[in-house]
Amino acid sequence: MKYIIIGGDAAGMSAAMQIVRNSEGNEIVTYEKGETYSYGQCGLPYTINGIVDSTDDLIARTPETFQEKYGIKTHTLHEVTKVDCEKKMVYGTNHHTGEGFEDQYDRLLVATGASPNCPPWEGIESEGIFTLKTIPDAEEIMNYINEDVQNVTIIGGGYIGLEMAETLCDIGKNVQIIERGERLAKIFDEDMSELIHEQAEKQNVKLTFKESVEGFKTNDNGRVRCVVTDQGEHPSDLVIIAVGVTPNTSFLQGTGIFTSVHGAIEVNTYMESTIKDIYAAGDCATQYHRVKQRPDYIPLGTHANKQGRVAGLNMINIPTPFKGIVGSSIIKFFDAALGKTGLSEHEAEAIHFPYTSVTIDSNHAAGYYSKDNPMKVKLVYNDHTRVLLGAQIIGGEGVDKRIDVIATALYHSMTVDELVDLDLSYAPPFNSVWDPIQQAARRA
Ligand code: FAD
Repeated sequence: MKYIIIGGDAAGMSAAMQIVRNSEGNEIVTYEKGETYSYGQCGLPYTINGIVDSTDDLIARTPETFQEKYGIKTHTLHEVTKVDCEKKMVYGTNHHTGEGFEDQYDRLLVATGASPNCPPWEGIESEGIFTLKTIPDAEEIMNYINEDVQNVTIIGGGYIGLEMAETLCDIGKNVQIIERGERLAKIFDEDMSELIHEQAEKQNVKLTFKESVEGFKTNDNGRVRCVVTDQGEHPSDLVIIAVGVTPNTSFLQGTGIFTSVHGAIEVNTYMESTIKDIYAAGDCATQYHRVKQRPDYIPLGTHANKQGRVAGLNMINIPTPFKGIVGSSIIKFFDAALGKTGLSEHEAEAIHFPYTSVTIDSNHAAGYYSKDNPMKVKLVYNDHTRVLLGAQIIGGEGVDKRIDVIATALYHSMTVDELVDLDLSYAPPFNSVWDPIQQAARRA
C-alpha cells in the first residue's frame, strides 16, 4: 500500500508513526509546504519571552529523522494544490525548484491544519504586523522587536491573544488588546471573564472592547505606526493579529469532499472523509463533540495528535474509533490558570440544551492552611437530568487537576450528584475535605 500524507506536523506525523509502528512493507510519503516537521506550535509564545531557549527546542523530530530512522519519504517545501479522487493523484508545487510534482496514492490523509485569519484590512501588508503560527513567524517577531518597539497591540482576545499579551508584557512592552466583542476569552461566560479582565488590568494590559479594526497607518519607512478602528487610532509599534483560524481545505474544492463547520473536513468516527480512501485529521477536520452530540470544530493540539493516531491505525485496517472531544482547554494568563471543559451557559443556550448553573468561590488549599489561592468554580448542568454539561474554573494552582476531573466526568456523562460521590484525594495543602468542585456540585 502507498500512503500519502499532506501536512508534516501533529496530525500528519502521528498518523505516519502509527503506520510505521503497526504495519510492514508499506510506502509512506509526506508532503509538507513548510520547512519544519513535527514541532510544538503550542510552545511558540514562550520562545518570545525566553522561557523556551530556542525554537529548535520545539522540534520533536526532523524530516531527516523520519526518513532515516523510520523510512518515511519526507518532503519539505512541497505544497499540494490539487487532489484528483478518481485517479487517486495529488498535484502540487515543489518550492525548492518552482516545478510541479504529482504522485499517486492508495490511501490519502489530509492533515493540513488551519491558517490564522487575516482580514483584508487596509495596510495589513505593512512591516511590523504579524500572526503567530509557525517557527518562522516566531522568529520574525523576535527579530522585529527592539528598543524602538514599545507599544504592542494584539488584535483578538482569544487564547493566542492572551498568551502573547503575557509574553510581550514579560519582555517589558506596553500591551493593549483590541477586541471587537465585549470581553476576553469568549469561551467563558461573562461572570468568569471578569476575573480575566482583572488579571489583565493588574498587569497593566490595556483592554479596548467593542472596537472593530479597519486598517493600519505606517511611518515613512513603511513600519506600522497605529491601528485604526471604527472608534479611533491606537499608536502601535508592533501588531499581532490573533482573530481565529480557518481550516486549510480550499485546495480540495471540486473534489466533492464534504466540509462543514467553519470549512473543516467532515469525518466519521474512523477519520474517513466522504470520499473513499481519503482520511482527515487535526485542525483541518471536524471533531465529534460528546456533550453537544454533533460534529464541532475546536482546533487544538490534543485533538490533532489523537485524531492523527486514530487515522493512521484505520488507514492500515486496524479499526479504531475516535471517541470524540468534550472541549477541554487550559490557558495560563499571568498568575491565573483559565480552565474550561464542556459547554458554557452561552453554548448550552445556543444549541437549546436545558441548563442551569452554579458558581462558587473557593480555595485551592484548606482555608486554615492557606487563603492565598482563590479559585472560582462554575458548573453548568442539565436542570432536568442533572447531567453535567460543562465547567469553568479560574484560579491559580490546582485548576488543571479539577478541570480534568470534570472532563473525565463529562466523558462519562456523569451527573452533578455523582461528582459529589467521587473519592478524590485530600490533604490540606491541596484542597479542603470537600474539594472545590465537590463544593460546587453540592451547591448544585
Ligand atoms: P498544523 O500543526 O497546522 O500542521 C499542518 C501542516 O500542514 C503545516 O505544517 C502546514 O505547513 C502543512 N500544510 C498546510 N497546507 C498544506 C498543503 N497544501 N500542502 C502541504 N502541506 C501543507 N493547542 C493546544 O491543545 N494547547 C495549546 O496550548 C496550544 N497553543 C497554541 C499556541 C499557538 C501559538 C498556536 C499557533 C497553536 C496552539 N495550539 C494549542 C494549537 C495546536 O498547535 C494545533 O491544534 C496543532 O498544531 C494542529 O496540528 P495539525 O497537524 O492539525 O496542523
